[in-house]
Amino acid sequence: MLDDSTYRACPACEHENASRIAAYSPDPWDMVACDNCGFVYLRNAPDYEVLEEDLAWEKTYVAKKESSGAGSTMFSPLARRIRNALKMRREKTASFRRWFNDGHVLDIGCGWGQLIQPPMTPYGIELSTGLHRIADERMRDRGGFCLHGAGAERIWDFDEGHFDGVIMHSYLEHEKQVMDVLKGAHRALKSTGAVFIRVPNFGSLNRRVIGPKWCGFRYPDHVNYFTLQSLRDVAARAGFTTELVNKFTLPVDDNISVLLRKSNS
Ligand SMILES: [Zn+2]
Repeated sequence: MLDDSTYRACPACEHENASRIAAYSPDPWDMVACDNCGFVYLRNAPDYEVLEEDLAWEKTYVAKKESSGAGSTMFSPLARRIRNALKMRREKTASFRRWFNDGHVLDIGCGWGQLIQPPMTPYGIELSTGLHRIADERMRDRGGFCLHGAGAERIWDFDEGHFDGVIMHSYLEHEKQVMDVLKGAHRALKSTGAVFIRVPNFGSLNRRVIGPKWCGFRYPDHVNYFTLQSLRDVAARAGFTTELVNKFTLPVDDNISVLLRKSNS
């Protein structure tokens, strides 16, 4: 099981001290609020190697749905996965296509790589071994490719200024090294490019009312819990300005969607 060596500093400000939030810390997990900036995060987050095989998206997503009991007698797990993937694809496509239409577009945590459609050239980074294999094959057919590994590490392998757009959809809440991936995206992006981010909204009314049973809690694969302010703060430290997309619904929305642009361009 996890020991003290796996404990991490605040991913937003790197402060070492944090206070445990008992109500959000089911054994053996340690959810804390940073004593310096207040950022809420899972302190004993698993290593990438553990996530890569044991906590891959396709497994935890199904496990979450099954534990919630939704449709458990009506659909096989496979049918449910396909249905959810189609639904997710519609939502994802609608949300970022307002800004990204062509050029080189990178999807970090791309799953099986269905998101970036022509005339965009698709690129991806995927931690899950099985999903990476599928995504890379698809993307190579369309002139791009997918790298295997953690977003915060592999983002640095792309050429500087290569991308017109970067998408982090349901990804940044999983990433242990938040600043590394944001700084890497800043480097890999053209001066005119933008980053689309969608993460669970820790500041939502739902979370405040429902508490520990809020849908945004997923142990241990969600390791960061953003509010709009903390998302703005980390983006600014990486050299971005932040525009809120879901302006009118944010207080009651379980997700935050933002568009980042380079602040020095
Ligand atoms: Zn902090």
